[in-house]
Amino acid sequence: MIPFNKPYLTGKEAHYLYQAVYSGQLSGNGKYTKKCQQYFEDALGVKKTLLTTSCTDALEMCAILLNIQPGDEVIVPSYTFVSTALAFVRQGAKIIFIDSRVDYPGFDEDQLESLITSKTKAIVPVHYAGIACDMDIIMKLADKYDLFVVEDAAQAIDSYYKGKPLGSIGHLSCLSFHETKNIQCGEGGLLVINDDRFVNRAEVIWEKGTNRAEFFRGEIDKYGWVDIGSSFLPSELNASFLYAQLEEIESIQNQRRKLWQKYFDGLNELMKNGIIKLPVIPDYATNNGHMFYLICRNKAERNGLIDFLKDNNIHAVFHYLSLHSSKYYHSKHDGRLLPNADKYSETLVRLPFHLFISSTEVELIVETVKNFFSNK
Ligand SMILES: *Cc1c(COP(=O)(O)O)cnc(C)c1O
Repeated sequence: MIPFNKPYLTGKEAHYLYQAVYSGQLSGNGKYTKKCQQYFEDALGVKKTLLTTSCTDALEMCAILLNIQPGDEVIVPSYTFVSTALAFVRQGAKIIFIDSRVDYPGFDEDQLESLITSKTKAIVPVHYAGIACDMDIIMKLADKYDLFVVEDAAQAIDSYYKGKPLGSIGHLSCLSFHETKNIQCGEGGLLVINDDRFVNRAEVIWEKGTNRAEFFRGEIDKYGWVDIGSSFLPSELNASFLYAQLEEIESIQNQRRKLWQKYFDGLNELMKNGIIKLPVIPDYATNNGHMFYLICRNKAERNGLIDFLKDNNIHAVFHYLSLHSSKYYHSKHDGRLLPNADKYSETLVRLPFHLFISSTEVELIVETVKNFFSNK
């Protein structure tokens, strides 16, 4: 079976883990945490980033930082991972789901203004497959209505919007290093703080509600309990592993983009014949080779394709089930139909995507997809 995902290793992970283990400091906010944060502060051109135990945790930190209260509304796409909404729901937010665009699963910027009310607090665009949302539209509306923007950039490392790195545009942003993402440490995440007003409080929330970070910098003589928070910081074990991956990011990204292009070129003919749709990358966006997806004409065809691939030892998968129809939220949803989100739930297929796939295997996968559609 060609697996759908297989986490990549650079070969240096064990080396840095060993260094961390024998350095004598294993808890968080040590040498490797600082190295990783420095990497992202440089790459994103922002003042402060904080490594977290997951992207979900980084999103929860955002909900706390924005003081989300019961009754506040937060605009989130329906076609996304649970965490994008869950992090705000835990603080009592009402989620106002926005539909996907016809040509893009992420976020329909054109519907945004009509969903903003006097209760809206934040907008959470998701850069699906690492392809940017149209951030100018979103930031302009946030400015006009005095709202905060939290980018869910979980899939969007090393991807850009009009030359700006994703994760550096919203007031706050969140990245993921889960093993299914381009750069991984098993479980891990990052909070990016672009708005200086949040820096001090973010450090406190990160360190269990204490001002310990300031204490360690020698800015105060004792530390104590000053706010709410949790233990959002990962240990040096995660950070040292992650650092090995970050050192190789350029080569990882080049290989991933090559793999993506090979799929795209191989399946282009099916797209031209109108049998499937392939990802669209607008002029303002870049491709970071996060995943390769295709869209079938209907649900039966999509399920048939996944089964056919499985019979041919290829593990392909569908993706999100629209959150507005989920078991947990559907009774709380305001009832609006979100046909594009549902369409992607029913017709999207993700092909195996990782760096252990050989060229021959990509050709085999492409041929198998073509065979499935040959008599359709
Ligand atoms: C992976 C992912 C998350 C969750 O990331 P974790 O690090 O697993 O918490 C959130 N949002 C999106 C869009 C994701 O793809």
